[in-house]
Amino acid sequence: MATDRDKRAEILDRVRALGGLTPGVARQVARDTGVAEAEVFGAASFYHLLAEPDVRVRVCTGLSCELAGAGDVLARARAAGWPVGTCACLAACDRAPAVLHGRDTLAGIRPDDVDRAAGDWRALASSAVPERDWRGDVGPAGAPADRLACDLLGEPDWSGSAFARAAQLGPDAVIAEIDRAGLQGRGGAGFPAAVKWKSVRSQPDGDRFVVLNADEGEPGTFKDRELLLRRPDKVLEGLAIAAAAVGARDVYLYVRGEFGAPWRSLERAIARFAASGALADTRFHLHAGHGAYICGEETALLEALEGKRGMPRLKPPFPTEVGLWGRPTLIHNVETIACVPAIVQRGGDWFRALGKTGPGTKLYCISGHVRRPGTYELPLGVTVDELAAAAGGYVGELRAFSPGGASSGFLPARLRDTPLDFRALADAGSMLGSAGVVVLNDTADVVAAVANQLRFFEAESCGQCAPCRIGTRFLRQALDRFRAGAGRGAALAQVADVAWQMNEGSICGLGQAAPLPLVSALRHFPEEFADG
Ligand code: SF4
Repeated sequence: MATDRDKRAEILDRVRALGGLTPGVARQVARDTGVAEAEVFGAASFYHLLAEPDVRVRVCTGLSCELAGAGDVLARARAAGWPVGTCACLAACDRAPAVLHGRDTLAGIRPDDVDRAAGDWRALASSAVPERDWRGDVGPAGAPADRLACDLLGEPDWSGSAFARAAQLGPDAVIAEIDRAGLQGRGGAGFPAAVKWKSVRSQPDGDRFVVLNADEGEPGTFKDRELLLRRPDKVLEGLAIAAAAVGARDVYLYVRGEFGAPWRSLERAIARFAASGALADTRFHLHAGHGAYICGEETALLEALEGKRGMPRLKPPFPTEVGLWGRPTLIHNVETIACVPAIVQRGGDWFRALGKTGPGTKLYCISGHVRRPGTYELPLGVTVDELAAAAGGYVGELRAFSPGGASSGFLPARLRDTPLDFRALADAGSMLGSAGVVVLNDTADVVAAVANQLRFFEAESCGQCAPCRIGTRFLRQALDRFRAGAGRGAALAQVADVAWQMNEGSICGLGQAAPLPLVSALRHFPEEFADG
């Protein structure tokens, strides 16, 4: 029998099943679940994909899509009278511009595709890229499998051999290998994975959970898409190993609402493992996100899983102690967990030695002005030049690069030798983040790129902290004033002060990182902000 907790957790999916927040839907869901109508409406209205049911086509306006001409696609769709809106980011930066059609992302959409659909937005899917081709370029081609942890080009392995090996080793030895590997969270913070595993394992007896954060929406980042499409075996096996190590049976997979094809890939993989029994009695529960960038923050994601608005929690307590439904919870992003089977099979020392300036390999995404945008598994600590070489080289001359998605700001070409790792980028005033590198060449408009990212953060602030809610709007408006002709002194004088307040007064990383695109551009590209 469904508990109150279960009913609450269902409300977002029920709103989705009824077509989103159209009149009467919140009341019906309230009637069906016993959750107050105001709470149903309050939670569902937080999520873009539920709150705007009339928008049927969403053009991604992330930086790489904008560089690739998303504005033209949007204009053409508006002119055709389509029910169109914008979103960011669809994790298709390598196949830009991208469009969300229902819950499926269509990559590589051109204005001509809109014309070919002849006024019917439903027909857009027919002229788009088929599902299998949403897979982008991955590499490096020819790299030996024993130098790769994620091995995107490798054949899926359904044997469960890493899980069996973990069972042989036992939980303490598995955690010791993760520790020895030096595996750091690949979602942005770089927190040592073994510390989380030990913490969850050491909690008093009772329920505990493992959660997969597959809701990474950082503009410039699309590696989760490749992993879920190509290597769902590694993701599920890593989750099963983690669950066994920390004493959990239930694993919740929170997958982006925009990830139709990756969702189906996971469904097939779960069914395959369930049929073979290769992952023993691990219970996988798939949950869809509903379009909220902030749910990539781990505590916001937990709130969403509980059927609430995805607003980050104050920490401490940390999820390892008080997580999903108040129970100890191990949360990892897709890449982190996908590294686990190889570490268990080959050992922590093997993984650690793969890196250049830090442990392991890293899935770097690269898009923008490069010849072969894609996802490349390279030693942690390569430079942007080495990454671009793997991607076929730059298009034009490197002028600027954003090393870790929108949250990392912009660095100038003269810092091209900076290792793309956690420490070196922090020392440079940036961050590795999710390693979604966006390259701008000498034709790019740096100020326009900054404006793009400020709009993104303003749209995605969850609004619970005043410095973030007000600051993101202030910064966007300040830059708009500058671009409209106000002098730097008049328009941007308060930027540093506002950025400091946002950094000090925000609960989560969004508010702390949101000023970085503008602050870093003012620092590294002062000529772009000269008066007159
Ligand atoms: S910093 Fe911004 S996104 Fe994060 S909790 Fe505060 S208002 Fe929400």
